[in-house]
Amino acid sequence: MTPDTPLTTTRAAVLHAAGDLRVEEREIRPPGPGEVLVRVSVCGVCGSDATEFSRGPVLTVLPVTLGHEFAGVVEAVGEGVRLPVGASVVCGAGISCGTCKPCRNGRTNLCRSYRTAGLQVDGGLAGHVVVPESILLDVSDAGLPPDTLGLAQPMSIAVHAVSRSGLTAGQDAVIVGVGGIGAFLVHAAVATGARVLAVDRSPERLALAATLGAAATSEAGSASVRERLDELGWEVDVLFEVSGSAAGLAEVLEAAQPGATIVPVGIQRGDVEVPLGHWTLREYLIVGTVAHAFAEDLPRAVELLGARTDWSDIAEEVLPLSGVVADALEPMLRGASRQVKTLIDPWIDAPRPAVHAAG
Ligand SMILES: [Zn+2]
Ligand SMILES: [Zn+2]
Repeated sequence: MTPDTPLTTTRAAVLHAAGDLRVEEREIRPPGPGEVLVRVSVCGVCGSDATEFSRGPVLTVLPVTLGHEFAGVVEAVGEGVRLPVGASVVCGAGISCGTCKPCRNGRTNLCRSYRTAGLQVDGGLAGHVVVPESILLDVSDAGLPPDTLGLAQPMSIAVHAVSRSGLTAGQDAVIVGVGGIGAFLVHAAVATGARVLAVDRSPERLALAATLGAAATSEAGSASVRERLDELGWEVDVLFEVSGSAAGLAEVLEAAQPGATIVPVGIQRGDVEVPLGHWTLREYLIVGTVAHAFAEDLPRAVELLGARTDWSDIAEEVLPLSGVVADALEPMLRGASRQVKTLIDPWIDAPRPAVHAAG
């Protein structure tokens, strides 16, 4: 901690219980060995934050400052930290031990003692946050503005799903659900050189998918995924189900040809009856995906963010911390979010336009 650090408390969005989220002053603790004090520039609000707010604690340990999708600037460092003060960073959020078997194999998202900043320990819906250096990526040279960097963590979730699927150039993919993760998934899948069919109930989301490079779109409900693929004459290699709905999964399974890879990205709430014998004979590959592997996926996510100059169609407006419940979490729970991704700037008192163009 530098001796002249001006602030001792910070404003933070703290979840105390389901339905009880308070923006309050919290003490800033000095960073310990291996830890970094980050001044948060912007923090995304996620579907899992909405779940914790409405019916938590599901994954959270309360009380906790929410926020696992943030970008900021290093303000002070603890002993042994290499990141320089002033560095621009994005946070991966997932804290892994580095020594268990999955960690040793680079699968840090499967760490046996995995914890997430913003769920089990305090996160970045605050002016300041202290996190381990190991979950921060130095993006000082990326040339991207903070609001765009605020999209890095959800993008890395998409990057990980694509990497898990094995999707490669020249292949065809279906993505069912173009929401908070699905939109990033369209971008990440198209970036591999694959041809993508995007499926969603919302015409606006389908227009966005087309902007992100989807070669074809289909309005859910108007035709089945199977019918749309037949019409296009595509035999798809990978099917991503992102909506998490039973109906979406049923459509994906109906559309899958023998040899297909099926990735249920959206988490199914209920149990799904599985005709496993049928799947065996069709040689389906069913692939799980969770969070992201920091060392590989987060740098790639930042690279992919740099491939577009304007992300306003994903996050157009940035909200103040005071708006997190009424203008971010509650609309999300009603399915009425105006934006694909809602960003919070802890340093403003009124909404402002997002700034995405580098400069
Ligand atoms: Zn998230
Ligand atoms: Zn581990």
